[in-house]
This record gives sequence, C-alpha cells and structure tokens, in this order.
Amino acid sequence: MDIWVVGTGYVGLVTGLCFAKLGHQVWCIDQDKNKIEALSRGVAPIFEPGIGELIAQVQSQGKVHFSTSFPASVPVDAALIAVGTPPGRDGEADLSQVFNAVDNLALHLPAGTLLATKSTVPVGTAARIRRRLLELGRSDLEVASVPEFLREGSAIEDTLTPHRLVFGVQSASAQNTLERMHSGMNSPVLVCDPATAEMIKYASNAFLATKISFVNEIANICERVGADVSQVSVGMGLDPRIGPSFLRAGLGYGGSCFPKDTRALVNIAGTVNYDFTLLRAVVEVNQRQRMSPLYRLLRWFESLEGVVVTILGVAFKPGTDDTRESPALDLAAHLISHGARVRLVDPVVKTAHVAGQNKPLPVSQDVYEALLDADAAVLVTEWDAFRNLDWTHVKNLMRGPFWFDGRNVLDPEVLEQAGLVLSNIGHKTRS
Ligand code: NAD
Repeated sequence: MDIWVVGTGYVGLVTGLCFAKLGHQVWCIDQDKNKIEALSRGVAPIFEPGIGELIAQVQSQGKVHFSTSFPASVPVDAALIAVGTPPGRDGEADLSQVFNAVDNLALHLPAGTLLATKSTVPVGTAARIRRRLLELGRSDLEVASVPEFLREGSAIEDTLTPHRLVFGVQSASAQNTLERMHSGMNSPVLVCDPATAEMIKYASNAFLATKISFVNEIANICERVGADVSQVSVGMGLDPRIGPSFLRAGLGYGGSCFPKDTRALVNIAGTVNYDFTLLRAVVEVNQRQRMSPLYRLLRWFESLEGVVVTILGVAFKPGTDDTRESPALDLAAHLISHGARVRLVDPVVKTAHVAGQNKPLPVSQDVYEALLDADAAVLVTEWDAFRNLDWTHVKNLMRGPFWFDGRNVLDPEVLEQAGLVLSNIGHKTRS
C-alpha cells in the first residue's frame, strides 16, 4: 500500500518506518526542514533503540521517503496524522497542528483516501475533521481514528507487535483499508466508532497514571507507618486482578503523554459538565510527588543556598532523549529557586530547558565529573548507567554524603557501606 504519514516525531517516524518494514511504500512528511534533511541522510533526529538500523534498512530498500511537502502525482491509499497535540492553557489539547495537517491533506488526497489520526486527540475530533472536510468540499475522504499506544524506548517493538490495535471507523471500507495496512501484525484488533477509539486512548493513559499516583500515595503512607512500599507493590502485583506493572513508587510520571493526556481528559470531562474528581487528584499527587527530593534535601541541609546538587537523569525515563515534562526539569527549577547550584547528568540528553533560566543548561554525560565536589545527589531517571557506580569512588569525589533515590533502584546498604547516606521513597526514612 501507499501510505503518507504527516508529522515525523516519535510517533510519526516510528510508525512510518514500521509500515515501510512491513512492505508498504511510505512518505514521511514534516514541516521541520532540519528533521527531514537529517532523515534523508539516514540520521535519526531522536534517540530510540534500533531506529538508525531501521532507517538504513528501509531506505536501502527504497520503501521510505522523507519530504517537507506533499508529494505530487504519488499514489496514496491512506494518510496518517501524527503531529503534536500539546496542552493549551487550560489543559485542553491544542489541535492547531492537526487541523493544519487536515487542511493540507484536503488539498492533496485523491477521492476515497483514508485519513486517520494517530495523534492523541479529544473525543469528537474525528467528527470535527469530517465537518472541516465538508467545509472544504471534501466529503469524498474517509475519516478514522487509530490511536497510538507505543512507549518511547521500545517504540519499534511496540509498533510492530502492539498489545492491541484499535480501529475507530465508520465504514467497512475504512476498516478494510486499516486491516490491509496492519496485515503484517498479529495483534488483537478492536473495531469501534471513532469517538470510542479516541476515548480508549485517553482512558488507557489516565488509568496508568492513576496506578502510578496511587502507589505513590501508598509509598508516602508507608514511610510514615514503617512499611516497605517495594514489597507492598510486589504483594499487590501478584494479584492478577491488579498486575505488577505501573506499581513502582517513585517521582511520578512525566513525558509527552501522561501529563498532557490526564489534564486533557479532565478538560474533556469539564466540557460536558463532569467533574473528573479522581483524575484531578491523580494529577495533583503527581505534581506533589516530584517535589519529594526537595523536601528531603531541605530537611538534610536546612538551607539550600549554595548547595551543589547533582541530578542524575534528565530524560523523563530511561531509553529516550525526550525531556518533555521530565520531573528532573521541575526539580531543577525548584532547587535553583531555593538557591541550590544544580548540575545535570544524563547518558543521552545534552541540554535542558529549565523554567526560569534564560538559556538551556548544559547536561554532562560523565557521571563522575558531575558528582565532583557535589554536596548531594538525586537520582531522577533510572538509567542503567547510574545503577552500578563505583560507590567508594563516588564518596571520595563528593563533598557531602547525601543521596536521594527517586526511583528506588539503589541498594541502601551498598551505599551506606561506601559511607553515603541514602534516602528513598516509601521506606522507613534513614535521614
Ligand atoms: P512530536 O512533537 O515528537 O512530533 C510531531 C511532529 O509533527 C514534529 O516533527 C512537527 O514538526 C510535525 N508537525 C507539526 N505540524 C505539522 C504539519 N502541519 N505538517 C507536517 N508536520 C507537522 O510528537 P510525538 O511525540 O510524535 O506525538 C505525536 C502525537 O502522538 C501526539 O498527539 C502524542 O500525544 C501522540 N502519542 C505520542 C506518544 C509518544 O510516546 N511520544 C505515544 C502515543 C501517542
């Protein structure tokens, strides 16, 4: 099949490459010239395991093409919209990129083509797209919603072997087109109407975010009553009705999806006069959780004026260079506003945009260099590279012994043997 993918970010690029790998002819279209230039040279604009190899493979097979404009006289069976849907002022999804793509596609798609959203869009967007197309005189295009569930860090695998495919369609021919597109994937398929598909995406992210905030609340109580949240999580997760995933206490969720999608769903509920009390609390708990290291540091130092704090991990999770809504950035901003001198270290992120700073902060790739003469360290992102440091060397490098493990991945006894003091989340506090 011939497929156009509009938007070549984490979702659009990986989707386009995977469809090319499945044998389709794919055009990846993005307005960002630098991205397209780099991709045309085979250079991935994002860090994602296996992406360089996949680009090389499908490019050498002539299966993928990168362009800043819509290709003329090229056949197309389906166009996927994978542009950003960032949060607006009240948390609502900003659909300007989506409708810009719709308007452009309306000028280029032949009659009968399927136009499907991969972007996460509010319930009712497919209907709005259909109305927009009618205004533009394009009632001859099919509209569908095919939400994306990939996770950064395992995006290629998730795209090629998804846990489920959701086809939000209104006609048998749209369903048929989607089935042919995905025919190389052996995943369960749920066929529903577009509004239901749009809701499945938000409900899934909101539920996962709820699990995270829930276990973080349990962790905070564990600290106060002398229980161990790591074991509580294991004990809960062994119940198949609960399951072990997303039950690890820590600094909460970040990234480009959970924070914006939870706020967007609260907003969607508000537009139909429904107060989504539970999800509002999930968002609030997550925001508060990010600040736990700050309060622990304030307890240890009393004042943070001039205190050198090294933050380990800037990406919102390991395996990606994405720093959108990363807890590390929020924490850095708050530490700086308390007078601390913050150093950042991450294996792949090179610079960090921290609120209140007029230019991006540098991010070191050398953890030992970043710890030299530091008064304290906070592990925010559980990269493997941070798990097994030479702790005696770390102790000798640092000016002070205080560590906060925001992901509960470090062994307190090992650090204590090296003369460090470790504080973490949801265990009896040692500091
Ligand atoms: P992104 O910001 O990385 O990429 C969006 C791309 O779209 C950018 O390269 C931008 O230049 C391009 N773009 C914007 N408007 C355009 C236009 N009119 N024409 C051509 N190109 C245009 O975003 P992303 O992380 O890939 O997310 C895309 C969507 O998928 C969002 O709605 C997001 O919520 C959803 N999603 C993301 C993930 C994820 O893990 N990143 C997972 C599932 C769903």
